Amino acid sequence: MGKALIIGAGGVASVVIHKCCQNPDIFEEICIASRTVEKCEAIKAKLDGGKTRIQTAQVDADNTEMLIELINKFKPDIVINVALPYQDLTIMDACLATGVHYLDTANYEPPEIPKFEYKWQWAYRERFEKAGIMALLGSGFDPGVTSVFCAYAQKHYFDEIHYIDIVDANAGDHGYPFATNFNPEINIREITAPGSYWENGGWVETEPLELKKVYDLPEIGQKDIYLLHHEEIESLAVNIKGIKRIRFWMTFSEKYLTHLRVLENVGMTSIEPIEFEGKKIIPLQFLKAVLPDPASLGPRTKGKTNIGCIIQGVKDGKPRTYYVYNVCVHEECYAEVGSQAISYTTGVPAMIGAMMMLKGLWMKPGVFNVEEFDPDPFMEALNKYGLPWKEDFSPTLLD
Ligand code: NDP
Repeated sequence: MGKALIIGAGGVASVVIHKCCQNPDIFEEICIASRTVEKCEAIKAKLDGGKTRIQTAQVDADNTEMLIELINKFKPDIVINVALPYQDLTIMDACLATGVHYLDTANYEPPEIPKFEYKWQWAYRERFEKAGIMALLGSGFDPGVTSVFCAYAQKHYFDEIHYIDIVDANAGDHGYPFATNFNPEINIREITAPGSYWENGGWVETEPLELKKVYDLPEIGQKDIYLLHHEEIESLAVNIKGIKRIRFWMTFSEKYLTHLRVLENVGMTSIEPIEFEGKKIIPLQFLKAVLPDPASLGPRTKGKTNIGCIIQGVKDGKPRTYYVYNVCVHEECYAEVGSQAISYTTGVPAMIGAMMMLKGLWMKPGVFNVEEFDPDPFMEALNKYGLPWKEDFSPTLLD
């Protein structure tokens, strides 16, 4: 059916590529392109010989001209961006120049400002519409599946949704004293930034990790959860009519937070360049270089993740509560695609989003977030391609 250019060859990209190769009728041909071509070739070596034809290429995705050249050469139907958020705009520019559809899993963040917002990518709406091409933003798990969960709840169970609490729990253990489950730079920037949530039409800002609760998660048990700013809050606040409050919570162990505090206190999480042996370096990028590569955590990580949405609202004039979540087992992900559950839960929805677009089920010119489309085929695909979900109609609430 189609050709996909996949940019990035890290933990998430590896899952996307495995999943595309499991669906060769949709993904007949793929090109894996990244900064370090050896990583692309290593993934190709694992998967070559199946029905999906695989090529590789070296590309600097910060360079729009180089991207345009690659797109013109490979002629994909869609570009799946699973590099870093810093490359979103250059890749969108290249898609505009070549008339090719675009998909990503994380919204743009300027390298020098640790604040991700949709405003940069939403500003491309008119240009994508005029070019007759589509951009699907945030088709990972959170954002991505969590946003589709909300659209599904809105479609099937509520007349109006008033409160959403997104809870992202990882009870996996990789055996290292400290490591991040996805790109350390992106992960640490997210956690050390001020928290925020949406309430009554505006943002409420908190100190980093200021708000904490304890929640008993299905199949995982009682965990400390902390309020973070997260990108799907921004788009859900626009797309879920009548919403009064949206919050995002993530689990962190005491051990993880102690390491993080020490690293912060000694300046290792800073993104301000410093002089080191006659050269400018960014402490957080140096820290990334000494931490374990998230892609290497796969064989070591044991346990489960649980990510879902606790939703409150009204149906037929009566209050209603609903919890929809997915539980993923790290070891099972590793057995299937050679990655831990964090990469898996992001890579599978990226493949599904691309599948929705290539099948024409989600296809219209412009720039969209996933909750703007019919959630039903996506929810069905989650059950089919490795991320089955469960529902609870009387969940414990956070407050
Ligand atoms: P990794 O760091 O493992 O991989 C990133 C890849 O992008 C690497 O192969 C890297 O190349 C490549 N890359 C970086 N810069 C460039 C560039 N300028 N040109 C070409 N390639 C480049 O990250 P992850 O796989 O963990 O994460 C991928 C994306 O997924 C991130 O944007 C992250 O924010 C997002 N994500 C989304 C989630 C969600 O649920 N929505 C959850 C988790 C992650 P090299 O190997 O040379 O460094």
